[in-house]
Amino acid sequence: MDIKKRDFLVGGAMLGAGAAMSSEAAAQTGTVFPPPQQILLPVNGTSQRFPVRRIYCVGRNYLAHIREMGNDERELPFFFAKHRDMIVQHGGTCAYPGMTKDFQYEIELVVAMKSGGMNIPIERALDHVYGYAVGLDMTRRDQQSRMKSKQWPWEIGKSFEDSAPCGTIYPASAVGHLSKGRIQLAVNGKTQQDSDLDKMIWNVPEIIHHLSAQAELKAGDLIFTGTPEGVGPLKKGDKMLGRIDQLGELSISVV
Ligand code: MN
Repeated sequence: MDIKKRDFLVGGAMLGAGAAMSSEAAAQTGTVFPPPQQILLPVNGTSQRFPVRRIYCVGRNYLAHIREMGNDERELPFFFAKHRDMIVQHGGTCAYPGMTKDFQYEIELVVAMKSGGMNIPIERALDHVYGYAVGLDMTRRDQQSRMKSKQWPWEIGKSFEDSAPCGTIYPASAVGHLSKGRIQLAVNGKTQQDSDLDKMIWNVPEIIHHLSAQAELKAGDLIFTGTPEGVGPLKKGDKMLGRIDQLGELSISVV
């Protein structure tokens, strides 16, 4: 045993019982504190779960939503990221975030990767897809608009606690690869977003192709593929119910 490790274990033994336990867990992994918890999503039809690595989101991908936001219709797809511990699972809650007066929903198809690479050709892209899920790209719209107007990054508008609700993953081996199908979101029982996946400007293979040019994709990556029109504000107590054909439901409450 090297000196550093022995010193650490001695220090751990002198702490209280609770602290000693976490020190023990850390000592087993050789880390200075226990590593962050893995984020695991349920997979339909099996008890095995999907471990999440990174979360990417497509900026604009449905024409009618681009028009409702007053954006340029001819732009190439672009991407932003969220962190995996911002995921909320089916039946969970989103805390109404601080620093906003305009917290909004965006229903989206989520692509779950089983492998990856860089510069993936369009015709090979679907080989890397494990499955699909219903997701919500939660947004501080006022912050996003403010950052856009300053030409600053969107981070504060898109990446915050509870900003990435994601449902059960449905393997492509069971449901196939999705290029069409109804995508809907109801808030408090009233349908607010209602479109079809065939209205995406950039389809799943094209998204994977473009994203893999800027970052290396790997197993465990999730890609939120953009939202159709009908986005709008939420308040505490609202109940969101998202649905995509073949992918079940995603139920999330705002608290
Ligand atoms: Mn979005």
